[in-house]
Amino acid sequence: MSTFKAPKGTYDLLPPDSATYLAVREAIAAPLRGSGYGYIETPGFESVELFARGVGESTDIVTKEMYAFETKGGDRLALRPEGTASVLRAALEANLHKAGNLPVKLWYSGSYYRYERPQKGRYRHFSQVGAEAIGAEDPALDAELIILADQAYRSLGLRNFRILLNSLGDKECRPVYREALQTFLRGLDLDEDTLRRAEINPLRVLDDKRESVQKQLGDAPLLRDYLCDACKAYHEEVRELVTAAGVVFEDDPKLVRGLDYYTRTTFEFVHDGLGSQSAVGGGGRYDGLSEMIGGPALPSVGWALGVDRTVLALEAEGVELELPATTSVFAVPLGDEARRVLFAKVTEMRKNGVAADFAYGGKGLKAAMKAANRSGARYALILGERDIEQGVVQLKDLESGEQTAVGMNEIVAELESRLG
Ligand code: AMP
Repeated sequence: MSTFKAPKGTYDLLPPDSATYLAVREAIAAPLRGSGYGYIETPGFESVELFARGVGESTDIVTKEMYAFETKGGDRLALRPEGTASVLRAALEANLHKAGNLPVKLWYSGSYYRYERPQKGRYRHFSQVGAEAIGAEDPALDAELIILADQAYRSLGLRNFRILLNSLGDKECRPVYREALQTFLRGLDLDEDTLRRAEINPLRVLDDKRESVQKQLGDAPLLRDYLCDACKAYHEEVRELVTAAGVVFEDDPKLVRGLDYYTRTTFEFVHDGLGSQSAVGGGGRYDGLSEMIGGPALPSVGWALGVDRTVLALEAEGVELELPATTSVFAVPLGDEARRVLFAKVTEMRKNGVAADFAYGGKGLKAAMKAANRSGARYALILGERDIEQGVVQLKDLESGEQTAVGMNEIVAELESRLG
């Protein structure tokens, strides 16, 4: 053990478990790639101001959870706590929205940082795969994203997740609701912090997880009853399109999310096997965000799915992903000459696309065969001095135990054909 440990609230991804994380990222990305989303990568840090304006001054993410710092050059930066603000910033900076083809559809995958109280499913460094469709107001786009997330989870074999759906209204109807909610909240028995929050962003009080707050919210006015006709029609269309795709969701009139930029369609994916950190993903429409960060009006919609919690959800459901074996062939040389000859063969196999590994460190036969079995390889290739003299190599099927001598010049083709 070294003197150092991974920082609090973080953990290392190590083989073999790390393969599951890669497979989850891939499974979430696959439906996006197949639906016109292009890959985007943005820096791990951005100006603090981008998140303050984009995510919201009064959100927990900005007030309590951001890793913010000043650089030697005097810039105020923050490790990214989420992806949407950065992706939109990058799209605006590169004028992607002016290329004439809206919506701009992008997907990303990466690490995010929030200074949260660590617990199972809640980390200070976590991983998300996200998608953003920028610059179009079309209920089919909202529906597309919900359907693609559902498809991703199902392709992984998850079943016990639920989709919660709500509309948060727009700049027409939300202010009216906001006032009604504020009036209601002012009449409750709330601590000072919460009352202050009610003045800045009353919707977020609905998201307060404390029992003492929740039990007072039973009669809170619901946004549903305040939606303007345009928002109502839009939401109805999203619901119909998602339903027609055979994707089941629950209307959740109290669903709000911890980021300020959402408008209209808002959704969350929750998994019932995860205890208190049950949200595996979430997203929605953010029609005002572009203007909030200095861009033109660009109505947009997106989501981010948490990779860590998706892996926990797989564990909770007992789903084991079928991961392709990383090594197909494990080569075992017996002696110096064999090492040179077999190492050259392994290099040739790799060039031909056969995944191969090698018994390094001058191991004896027994230890080397143990390593071969542990590698998960289907075949072992064993080369001894007598084999070299005869121009053959021993090919051992590690499943059946069957061993045959194959000509040195034929072995690569033989393995290619056996491995298909
Ligand atoms: P949010 O940006 O808060 O909507 O988060 C989107 C998804 O990212 C959540 O549904 C989680 O799956 C994941 N996530 C957010 N925060 C954390 C965290 N601290 N630890 C692990 N996963 C997280």
